[in-house]
Amino acid sequence: MGKGTALIWFTTDLRLRDNELLHAALQRHDSIVPVYCFDWESMQQEQFGFKRMGARRLQFLLESLVDLQQSLLALNAHLQLVWGRAEEVLPKMAAEYGVSEVFAKKEVGTYELRTQAAVAQALNKLRIEWTVTSTSTLFHPDDLPFSVRDIPEVFTDFRKRAERDASVREEFATPAVIPTPELKPTRVPDLKSLQVEEPRFDNRAVLEFRGGERAALQRAQHYLLDSGCLSNYKETRNGLLGADYSSKFSAWLAMGCISPRTIYFMVKEYEGKHGANDSTYWLIFELIWRDYFRFAMKKHKSRFFQKGGIQQRPPSTIDDANALQRWVNGKTGVDFVDANMNELRSTGFMSNRGRQIVASYLCNDLKLDWRLGASYFEEQLIDYDVASNWGNWAYLAGVGNDPRGNRYFDVAKQAKVYDAGGEYRGEWRVTSDE
Ligand SMILES: Cc1cc2nc3c(=O)[nH]c(=O)nc-3n(C[C@H](O)[C@H](O)[C@H](O)COP(=O)(O)OP(=O)(O)OC[C@H]3O[C@@H](n4cnc5c(N)ncnc54)[C@H](O)[C@@H]3O)c2cc1C
Repeated sequence: MGKGTALIWFTTDLRLRDNELLHAALQRHDSIVPVYCFDWESMQQEQFGFKRMGARRLQFLLESLVDLQQSLLALNAHLQLVWGRAEEVLPKMAAEYGVSEVFAKKEVGTYELRTQAAVAQALNKLRIEWTVTSTSTLFHPDDLPFSVRDIPEVFTDFRKRAERDASVREEFATPAVIPTPELKPTRVPDLKSLQVEEPRFDNRAVLEFRGGERAALQRAQHYLLDSGCLSNYKETRNGLLGADYSSKFSAWLAMGCISPRTIYFMVKEYEGKHGANDSTYWLIFELIWRDYFRFAMKKHKSRFFQKGGIQQRPPSTIDDANALQRWVNGKTGVDFVDANMNELRSTGFMSNRGRQIVASYLCNDLKLDWRLGASYFEEQLIDYDVASNWGNWAYLAGVGNDPRGNRYFDVAKQAKVYDAGGEYRGEWRVTSDE
């Protein structure tokens, strides 16, 4: 027996498959109002002079919303796209539809937590229940062998204990029906209507990233099941050129178009057919890194955004706006750094190897505040994820979860190992607008 109507607030969980929110709401209620809240003002805010969301990620988000809208429509449900601050818009909507419970994804970022607290408070005044559910990690937080407070400070300790004591939960299936009250269709905006210039596609891009659950599942099908790439992932993952040296799942994971559990079970399916090896395991290993940064942010909260990081030991830095600008524009004069920065600016993506090198260069060679680099990445990356970005930057700046302290990457040495023939540096000598 259902009981009344629930509102689902979609954020970075833009999918139907393996969506615990959706599953819980459908179990407990007999109709659902699916909502996405478009807080355009906040999206345009700046930090350290960089926007919180650049045009490429915005485009990916809009594509993901259109895809979700279509998937819901196939089940006769209209996605409600509403504009404004969540804490103002959502309670109003919940009251309008006589909703008794609002569901949302559990957040870890400071800004997101602040917004959620304001929403919860406004709903509380209306006596509407507020339920947050973890939807984005491989290991469910309730299955970890430690509380959030006791999450180990070293990744290897976390991974070993999680692998030993926790298992990956089964996926939730895509719902077959989503009953809703009578809802009017709403429109997902396009870049033009937001007065944002459409970013130019650069043919040198590793992939044409297209937002949405459908594209995510297609990419997973290709990389994990059809291509055989997975059997060599560990050897190729430090590559720089091409679509298949690594999975390129990050943008879809960040927007929640696919869940890490779906990826996990596809890896298991591949292993069942073709055999497991170090490479098939290594993709899971990287997903555990992703989990780790998320849980670490849950533990240390806003410290991840402070200069001294979770160590509370701010590195000594210099103010040099020109050096920062040269780094941003790929004009440092160090060709390997510049090539990576050119790729990022032209495509919204950079390899993991590249990210480590340019981040180390900013922190150790330029001696700039690491948060400037993290903020620039936040603006530019299509796959920006609050915990993975700020967690990795803090780690590289020596103020995060790294037992070895500051990590220095010798750029010349890195170029010799990872771009021995100079193909990558040749490819990304200039950006598309030069
Ligand atoms: C300074 C810096 C900033 C970063 N910012 C982000 C970010 O904003 N968003 C983001 O998703 N990743 C970030 N990463 C991690 C990593 O670089 C990307 O996840 C990866 O390059 C994406 O490519 P892929 O999907 O092909 O990765 P693959 O090698 O195929 O890995 C599979 C998945 O594992 C996860 N993963 C891999 N490496 C890491 C890692 N070091 N930390 C966390 N998760 C990882 C990602 O979800 C990735 O999609 C950052 C790394 C650094 C060094």
